[in-house]
Amino acid sequence: MSDTRPALKPPTAAAPPANFLRGIIERDLGAGTLQGRQWGGGPGDAAHHAAGGPDPARIRTRFPPEPNGYLHVGHAKSICLNFGLARDYGGVCHLRFDDTNPEKEEQEYVDAIIEAVHWLGFDWAANDTTHLFYASDYFDFMYRAAEALVADGLAYVDEQSAEAMRANRGDFTTPGTDSPFRSRTPAENLARLREMKDGLHADGAMVLRAKIDMASPNINLRDPALYRIKRAVHHNTGSRWCIYPMYTYAHPIEDALEGITHSICTLEFEDQRPFYDWLLENLARLGLLAHPLPKQYEFGRLNLSYVVTSKRKLRALVEEGIVSGWDDPRMPTLFGLRRRGYTPAAIRAMADGTGASKTNIWLDYSVLEQALRNDLEGQAPRAMAVLDPVPLVLQNWAEVFGSETHVEPCQAPAHPQRPELGLRHFGLSRTVWIEREDFAEAAPKGFFRLFPGNRVRLKYGMVVECTGCEKDATGAITAVHARVVPDTKSGTPGADTVKVKGTITWVGQADAVAAPVVLYDRLFTAPQPEADGRDFREVVNPQSKVLVQAWLEPSLANVAAESRFQFERHGYFVADREVHRPGAPLFNRITTLKDGWAGG
Ligand code: ATP
Ligand code: MG
Repeated sequence: MSDTRPALKPPTAAAPPANFLRGIIERDLGAGTLQGRQWGGGPGDAAHHAAGGPDPARIRTRFPPEPNGYLHVGHAKSICLNFGLARDYGGVCHLRFDDTNPEKEEQEYVDAIIEAVHWLGFDWAANDTTHLFYASDYFDFMYRAAEALVADGLAYVDEQSAEAMRANRGDFTTPGTDSPFRSRTPAENLARLREMKDGLHADGAMVLRAKIDMASPNINLRDPALYRIKRAVHHNTGSRWCIYPMYTYAHPIEDALEGITHSICTLEFEDQRPFYDWLLENLARLGLLAHPLPKQYEFGRLNLSYVVTSKRKLRALVEEGIVSGWDDPRMPTLFGLRRRGYTPAAIRAMADGTGASKTNIWLDYSVLEQALRNDLEGQAPRAMAVLDPVPLVLQNWAEVFGSETHVEPCQAPAHPQRPELGLRHFGLSRTVWIEREDFAEAAPKGFFRLFPGNRVRLKYGMVVECTGCEKDATGAITAVHARVVPDTKSGTPGADTVKVKGTITWVGQADAVAAPVVLYDRLFTAPQPEADGRDFREVVNPQSKVLVQAWLEPSLANVAAESRFQFERHGYFVADREVHRPGAPLFNRITTLKDGWAGG
């Protein structure tokens, strides 16, 4: 079960991450290869762009999700890369829904993707255009281009069975065999294609294929399919079409119609690049598409350790009830990360810090956690919370303050380096909640917290001296006893007269706020959940969601959902965006203050 492949460590500040794409863009801008590009004000064919003016965008990139699921942290990499390059080089990045497959796509996902990309901090409006596009709006052009290819002898209708087509494709060592339908004339093919479009043939009865080379060493060039017959209702075009373009045919055309200069995709598309160029060069030669044509560049996928990202597996986690939904705070979806409390800036920092390279990378999950800490350290207000509470009773309280019910006002800065955030106020009372682990009947070596005879400071409060504890019949500790040392309140002249080795956090019972807090942790216990063919279900972390009933200081009583805090000593927490209400709090742990998984 052990996984020997090391996860990638965070890039250091001294060595900025390699990003070969910047090199390509700078080369293109420097060499002027992108000059003279026309932009027709929106996507369109060669004539449309020719009628427009010079493109106001120096480069064009795109993020092209298929609206068939929720975006995850891998998509965030692609979003940050594409939108970031456009921003840095005076360009525009399009948000394009690659919705050419009628069966799996839904409006729900379109809306969720728009919301997630906005949340990450990117926008597609520029030069009075929204640059939000749908590939299905290009169906008419795609069909026109198909007819043009047929007329030019570059595509044919193949009526072989699916099995015969597969068998005749050959494999890596065997060249393919020409289809018996390959030698039809353009006129015959055109008639057949129109019959396909007009619904005269059954689903799957025939396909339109490019006519390239059945013996090509690149199997993707062995007459790839361009169109298939599929009677399906499409979310945008309804029942207008019964033939739909294949992804490999549609995608290059989408890029070209939108005037994309740098079409950035993941490595698995490398073998498709020759077809990408073949198709666009032919359509440009036939006068349908404008020059210069888009160029495809591939970069390595980002994989995060302790995470699975394939949509199929994420769906399994949801449908099998392993998580509570797509936005479960343990999910690597952008909605999950958001609900967990991750900030857009932390996700962007993680993505930008990994650059772009020619190999798929495994990034250690701790890089994302550290990015979150770096972002929140300087801005998150501090608060005290007791997550595993046991009462501490200050037995001489009435003697010192004249009344059992006296509450001694205390204060602390909301943030140690940011006085402008003001002060938090809370009360020290006869009974306070402390962490169970802060008391030991018999102190182990080096334990400086509460044990009989020892003195500690209640942080921002007073010094107390432990006198003992109470236990129930099972021997479990039910209360800790101590005496408050007079005149030791923090911020008063007497505070330094008594030296203590330990300071502990606490919340006074007089004004404590009861709240459920969910201690989230990594969803899997193995850095690569599927290493060596293992089923990821075997390594689900049973401790990934632990609900505790905590006591919080009163400054947390009425905070807004999604506000983030550092609970002193415990980590960073967020008010849950779904369940939390001011007055009825629920907090999620985003991450601890230190990496508890290091070395594991
Ligand atoms: P998945 O296979 O994880 O479901 P996908 O590639 O099918 O993802 P798309 O909607 O096609 O999902 O992806 C949109 C864009 O995001 C594509 O350009 C794709 O290359 C990119 N992308 C997806 N996953 C990653 C990843 N792990 N790292 C970098 N880019 C990614
Ligand atoms: Mg895909």
